[in-house]
Amino acid sequence: MNPRLHPREDHWLDYASGHLDPASRTLLEAHLAFCGICRREAGQDLAPGGALLAAMPEAEPPAELLQGILARLKAPEAPRVGGEALPLPRALWSLLPSLEGAAWHGALTRGFRFLEAGGGLFLIHMEKGRPFPEHGHRGLERAVILAGGLEDAGRVLEAGDFDEEDPSRVHAPVALPDEDCWLLASLEGGIRFTGWRGLLQRAAGR
Ligand SMILES: [Zn+2]
Repeated sequence: MNPRLHPREDHWLDYASGHLDPASRTLLEAHLAFCGICRREAGQDLAPGGALLAAMPEAEPPAELLQGILARLKAPEAPRVGGEALPLPRALWSLLPSLEGAAWHGALTRGFRFLEAGGGLFLIHMEKGRPFPEHGHRGLERAVILAGGLEDAGRVLEAGDFDEEDPSRVHAPVALPDEDCWLLASLEGGIRFTGWRGLLQRAAGR
């Protein structure tokens, strides 16, 4: 199923012109891994990454990924953290920096953890049915759901959906009840020690 929530058109112009920071670029490429619509619209203008992106497979259901793909495919290997292979779509593996040396942060809320993937990018894991820790009035800057989904203020976001938050909006996402939710989030642009970024900074001891 194609994602329903897409990056704005001007993001693709920035992407094609190479004017994006690495974190934003990774988020857009994560969306492209799921989204045939955006691949068709944006992929033709992208070089040299265009051929790579066009070759990405269609998104497959996370359950299938969990059960079959990791076992079937040998290289490249799934990203690992502390020896744990992450159940992320294969099309994303090459996009992520090495996470082997990264450490999980969290324990602010049971069933929630995150790690820094470098360059302002965070990989977040919410156990099924669990909420994101309560936070202030600054929202996520940008996020892409990698697996599972979450409910956020009456909206349901699922794999591949790209979300860009209005910083003034208060929200409290909750992972959907049937599957763990994995997402990539870019927190650039936040004000230090406030909102999401401050929450993560404090949790990381910074
Ligand atoms: Zn799209």
